[in-house]
Amino acid sequence: MFDIVIIGGGASGLACAVAACEAALRAERSAPKIIILESSDKVGRSILRSGNGRCNFSNADVMPDAYNDPAAVEAVLSCLQAQAAQMPLRAEAPNPVVAFFERLGLIWRRESEGRLYPLANKASVVLDVLRSYLLRFGVEVQCGMRAQKVVLPQAVGGHVTVHAEDGRLVRGRTVVIAAGGAAGAFGLEEVIPHEPPQPTLGPLATDDCFTRPLDNIRVRCVVRLLRNGALCAEERGEVQFRAYGVSGIAIFNLSRLARPGDVLQLDLAPDVPRHSMEVRRLMLREALAKPPSNFELLQGIVLPLVADQILKRCVLEGALEATDESARQIEDALHAFCLPVKGIGDEGLCQVHRGGFALQAFQADSMQAREHPELFVIGEALDVDARCGGFNLHWAFATGMLAGWRAEQAVHAG
Ligand SMILES: Cc1cc2nc3c(=O)[nH]c(=O)nc-3n(C[C@H](O)[C@H](O)[C@H](O)COP(=O)(O)OP(=O)(O)OC[C@H]3O[C@@H](n4cnc5c(N)ncnc54)[C@H](O)[C@@H]3O)c2cc1C
Repeated sequence: MFDIVIIGGGASGLACAVAACEAALRAERSAPKIIILESSDKVGRSILRSGNGRCNFSNADVMPDAYNDPAAVEAVLSCLQAQAAQMPLRAEAPNPVVAFFERLGLIWRRESEGRLYPLANKASVVLDVLRSYLLRFGVEVQCGMRAQKVVLPQAVGGHVTVHAEDGRLVRGRTVVIAAGGAAGAFGLEEVIPHEPPQPTLGPLATDDCFTRPLDNIRVRCVVRLLRNGALCAEERGEVQFRAYGVSGIAIFNLSRLARPGDVLQLDLAPDVPRHSMEVRRLMLREALAKPPSNFELLQGIVLPLVADQILKRCVLEGALEATDESARQIEDALHAFCLPVKGIGDEGLCQVHRGGFALQAFQADSMQAREHPELFVIGEALDVDARCGGFNLHWAFATGMLAGWRAEQAVHAG
């Protein structure tokens, strides 16, 4: 019988175990008996692969707007701020998650757009500080054990039973579901609302006749997401063409909002002023001592392969000499290269899942289920997802901390 059974040894599960030990230490109690059940062969794999192996673990400016449910997320993060105020906090630490890692000894640095990384620039360092803390406090880790079902007690004070895929049972006074976005509901969908997971924050599949020839080419552009012609969202950044569509951080962010039938409108030269193509045509005619071709109009602005696709779009591939009319058409296609969205391009590259347990079923100050005090759900297992920038890991760590602190108190209070 354990005090706290944590399903999932990823970002939120490890933070939860550390926070529970931290709470006991601060209250001068002995650490609770914790077990982490992890389906893979080692804990923290998700941390290691994050941020291209560098782990963008938080953001200096955690805006609730970065999440799918800003009001509910703001309520949770405000509770964290209030509870963390009792912990040692350096003035330089921008938020309680950073302060938590500082207490574990992590030194961090800030990059563009407020993204925070470990100073050592390696995700393994983030995992190291979590793991060594857990080792010190004797937290048990059971790898290679996939939890399948959670059975809550029939009466207050009873224990929770976790059924593993291989038939083993683990009993605890509380259970924390920290199994990430894809894990499902563990048989609890009858008692807590749960939306089936869907991969997002990934590349988009589009009409591929224009992207296939550009596979792997990167362009810096502004991308607009249009629905029925109206602007839904806009991102600026690098876009990578793929055979099936488009990828890159700007596209990942738009993928959270995009639906099949929407249109991605790429401005392939956002810093080239509009209505300048006719002047450019006249300038080139003077410089070349002959009228420029349509291709030459685009040369020097975009890569030749991209120019080919713009001309294909304008049905100008064969027509050589640029005219007033062709210059206008080319300019339009350059600033509004439209790709109809089909859906997610490659699910394996998606960084998070939308869906999961409804956040409203949990207390904002602890992630404890309102109707089932033995149950906590944290991280991506909740129906919360965010854009790129460290916000998803911030959420995982933040909810892990809240649940860990409260679970320890709950266990102590019996
Ligand atoms: C390639 C990639 C890069 C990313 N980079 C960033 C980044 O730089 N910054 C950022 O903020 N976010 C990033 N994310 C998102 C971020 O990793 C997740 O949002 C975060 O890890 C979620 O934490 P979690 O604890 O909820 O789930 P996870 O960290 O995924 O942990 C869940 C754990 O539970 C285990 N598990 C699953 N099912 C079971 C089961 N049935 N029984 C037992 N164990 C189970 C899994 O093996 C896993 O170890 C990235 C995601 C990906 C895929």
